[in-house]
Amino acid sequence: MEKLLVAQNISKNFGEFRALDDASIEVPKGSVFGLLGPNGAGKTTLLRIINQITMPDQGKVFLDGEPLQPHHIQNIGYLPEERGLYKSMKVGEQALYLAQLKGLSKTEAKAKLKYWFDRLEIGDWWDKKIQELSKGMAQKIQFVVTVLHDPKLLIFDEPFSGFDPINANLIKDEILKLRDDGATIIFSTHRMESVEEMCDHIALINKSKKILDGKLLDIKRAYQNNTFDVGLIATNPTEASSLLTDKFNVQPATFKSINDDLKYRIQVAPDASSNDLLHYLSSLGQITHFNEVIPSVNDIFIETINKNN
Ligand code: ADP
Ligand code: MG
Repeated sequence: MEKLLVAQNISKNFGEFRALDDASIEVPKGSVFGLLGPNGAGKTTLLRIINQITMPDQGKVFLDGEPLQPHHIQNIGYLPEERGLYKSMKVGEQALYLAQLKGLSKTEAKAKLKYWFDRLEIGDWWDKKIQELSKGMAQKIQFVVTVLHDPKLLIFDEPFSGFDPINANLIKDEILKLRDDGATIIFSTHRMESVEEMCDHIALINKSKKILDGKLLDIKRAYQNNTFDVGLIATNPTEASSLLTDKFNVQPATFKSINDDLKYRIQVAPDASSNDLLHYLSSLGQITHFNEVIPSVNDIFIETINKNN
């Protein structure tokens, strides 16, 4: 797969403190790439380096195969973690000003702003002062200004923080639409459900080192461990329970069921298949539920960080 952005062996020190240690990421064209990690891991530092706000001490960044240069800024839209707008300026005035800084003519900027303000239903904010807006409202303006010049790479540092669930969802849909229209997205977040819903690739940074990356599906496959949630109406419940416990690694399961069934979370041996388990279960009674347990990003995050610490 063609890479739009490659960061190679990036290290960055702040005085004695090493904020990034030999971290590399590769972001495929057209992907939604999630940058995950605990607070202080180094995510923002990496995003700032990609945006040429901070210089790395070591390592290189390539955009579309070219070593990163100042003019590449025009191809990148960046929503920083620390969001600042001029409080006393009016929304429209400010948006027009920022759009023109990104190289749009006033006419272009006006047309694009109209499109986005209509789209996000914020047209009537145009003459409001920034200081009259709530945090979430100001953040919507900042989102618009980030994407306005149709950059091919969009970088959002914690795009959902400060948004209520409805606006977070709206921004999520807008980000996915930008991806569908051809942009490549990198974003950092602590909202694991956004990662589940949006990302096709992730990288996990912990204590300045990248400790996991790849296609989200491949990572999930690597973390899946032959575990199934099972519902069973057993012919003889006591016997079924003890037979299962003898044969497999069995935990209670918590899925919802309208049947009066036994619920188990069963792990089968690596060389056994789901059919082996099904076959055995069917000898014990009627199967009402059978579902492979897919590891969530949340589980993967916690397990990997704990192992690494
Ligand atoms: P994250 O975004 O993953 O929460 P950051 O990249 O913001 O983490 O920060 C990583 C570490 O680097 C933190 O310990 C932070 O205090 C430190 N750091 C970041 N920027 C600076 C700076 N300009 N000067 C000194 N330390 C910094
Ligand atoms: Mg950060």
